[in-house]
Amino acid sequence: MGKIHVLDEHIANQIAAGEVVERPASVVKELIENSVDAGSTRIDVYVEEGGLQLIRVVDNGLGIDPEDCETAFYRHATSKIAHGRDLFQIRSLGFRGEALPSIAAVSKVQLISSNNDDGMGRRIVIEGGTFKVNEDIAAPRGTDFTVQELFYNTPARLKYMKTVQTELGHISDVLYRMALAHPEIAFTLRHNGNMLLQTVGGGDLLQVIAAIYGTSSAKAMLPIEGESLDYKISGYISRPDLTRSNRNAMSTIINGRYIRNHGLNQAILRAFHTLLPINRYPLIVLQLEMHPSLVDVNVHPAKLEVRFSKESELNEFVENCIRSLLKQQVLIPQVMNQP
Ligand code: ADP
Ligand code: MG
Repeated sequence: MGKIHVLDEHIANQIAAGEVVERPASVVKELIENSVDAGSTRIDVYVEEGGLQLIRVVDNGLGIDPEDCETAFYRHATSKIAHGRDLFQIRSLGFRGEALPSIAAVSKVQLISSNNDDGMGRRIVIEGGTFKVNEDIAAPRGTDFTVQELFYNTPARLKYMKTVQTELGHISDVLYRMALAHPEIAFTLRHNGNMLLQTVGGGDLLQVIAAIYGTSSAKAMLPIEGESLDYKISGYISRPDLTRSNRNAMSTIINGRYIRNHGLNQAILRAFHTLLPINRYPLIVLQLEMHPSLVDVNVHPAKLEVRFSKESELNEFVENCIRSLLKQQVLIPQVMNQP
């Protein structure tokens, strides 16, 4: 008999969890992404002890069919893509079907979901990947997902968790990014009962910027807008005289997904060129829209990094849009100053 065998699902999920669930913030990110994909207009996030004790995400989205609630925890189970060709046209935030089985493998999970307005739903409890409860329950439309005692059965991973404050910082970052990418959704974040972030929904990006960076920063932003054959850009950039020491305040959002891309960041900084003092960065929130075939999001499990098929064209487009806006800004005061 040969020595090679296929790992059972339980072990496979634990291995996948190592990649997908790095820390509490990864759980928060995956759960919010699911809520966004479900068309929610409200997403409320509750965490305790930096998310290590409890993470709860409640949404008012489409909910899950009672029959699908258990299947949702199977490996590679997804409602978002069906065919190989779909991989080149991804419009949803999720598509790998790995988050729920991974999270459930390393924590104690309760899912309550309803996909109807009859007040009935399904409740599932899973501990360390083992199903404990699957029952009918009264529930409003939407999904209420609770994760307790993350990494309780993987002590090696638990040992690597930082302080509550550090883990909470990562969770706040996830919420900021999601709120910036989706101003149409009302988000709240509460930690140990204290409200840390609240956005109102309704689609006003400037209001979200104010909620995260403060009203005075929001007041100093310049709106940007532009369009080419392939790309559409909108959002806000800070006036060049209001810079920051931290480059993390440069946010780029592609088709509703917050991403990090070195080339794009360089293009933004090139546009500011001599206007920025050394080691200073602008506050920027750029929303880019493009056909999904122009961006490959299947590069990394966390999907933070992406690849563009026409990278230099995109970078040039972004650089030009920002530069022409900045040019107007620099010119206008000079004109006004003339006697
Ligand atoms: P993916 O998001 O990649 O499809 P997940 O493991 O995150 O995989 O979720 C599996 C499936 O469970 C999703 O495809 C979706 O059908 C369903 N699901 C998960 N969370 C929600 C939610 N909050 N609302 C509605 N459906 C959900
Ligand atoms: Mg998902």
